[in-house]
Parts: sequence; C-alpha cells; structure tokens
Amino acid sequence: MKPDASPVETGGHDPEAALRYRCTRCGACCRWDGYVRVSDEEIARIAALLDLTPEAVRRDYTRLTHDRAGLSLTEKPDGSCVFLADGNVCRIQDAKPRQCKLFPNFWNFSGFRRWCRCLDTWEQAGPEANETNPPAPPDEGASS
Ligand code: SF4
Ligand code: SF4
Repeated sequence: MKPDASPVETGGHDPEAALRYRCTRCGACCRWDGYVRVSDEEIARIAALLDLTPEAVRRDYTRLTHDRAGLSLTEKPDGSCVFLADGNVCRIQDAKPRQCKLFPNFWNFSGFRRWCRCLDTWEQAGPEANETNPPAPPDEGASS
C-alpha cells in the first residue's frame, strides 16, 4: 500500500539530544511508491561518488517527475530504488539525496511507523525526556 506522503511536522525535540528516530535499515523507505527527488547538486555528488558524469547519472538513474518540476531516482522492476542493494544497503550512502537523509526525523507522514521500522527513542526514554525544541536540519554532508 502506498503511504500518504504528505509531510508533517515532527514535533518537539531537545537539540542536544540524539535524534528521535533511529533507523534500523529495514529498507522500507527505499521500496515504497513515490519520488526520490534529486537536485542538480545531488546529482553531481552521486556522479562523483560513482565516478560518472552528471549527464550519465541523469540519463541512467533519473526520470522526470509527473509535475515536470524536477528529477527523481528511477526504480528497479520490483519498485525499489535503483540504488538499493542486497542487505538493504544504499549504494550511494555517502551521497544519498537530502530527502533520504532527512526521513523520518525531519519529515515524515501520518502513520509512517506502520511501514518504517525505526526505533522511537522518545518512547524508550519516557515522556519527561521530550522537550519542545525542534532539531536543526543536518548539514548537507551529514547522513542518517
Ligand atoms: S538513494 Fe539510497 S537511501 Fe535513498 S531511496 Fe535509494 S537506496 Fe534508499
Ligand atoms: S523505513 Fe525507517 S527504519 Fe526503515 S530504512 Fe527507512 S528510515 Fe530506516
């Protein structure tokens, strides 16, 4: 089933604390329907990582989104991301798009935990650990 991909605020968080959701690398977000949008800058980083030209990355690994507003990574025949390898490994981990890096701590959607197997550190820590300050977005070079 396709998740409702409308982004929602992720709620309060202590910026000094670890991020709320800890990825367990279940691979679900690399398999569900929807776009993995990539900017020119992200394409350049992927190209550098794979030792390809940006034009080759655009040609072989991206497609135009339906709204014609940009490019998305393509999928394999089973619907998973073209860069998802065995063992739920991202082949472009060091250059993966911002959309991938920011999920689910900085954007997610209603009911996302029905699919995402992340650990909720707030649930583990208890309600007294949950303050109201939102986290700052990570640096461009950061990865989840
Ligand atoms: S780029 Fe990597 S993290 Fe993003 S959907 Fe593809 S395989 Fe998953
Ligand atoms: S669905 Fe959640 S736990 Fe699974 S790989 Fe994506 S972010 Fe990590």
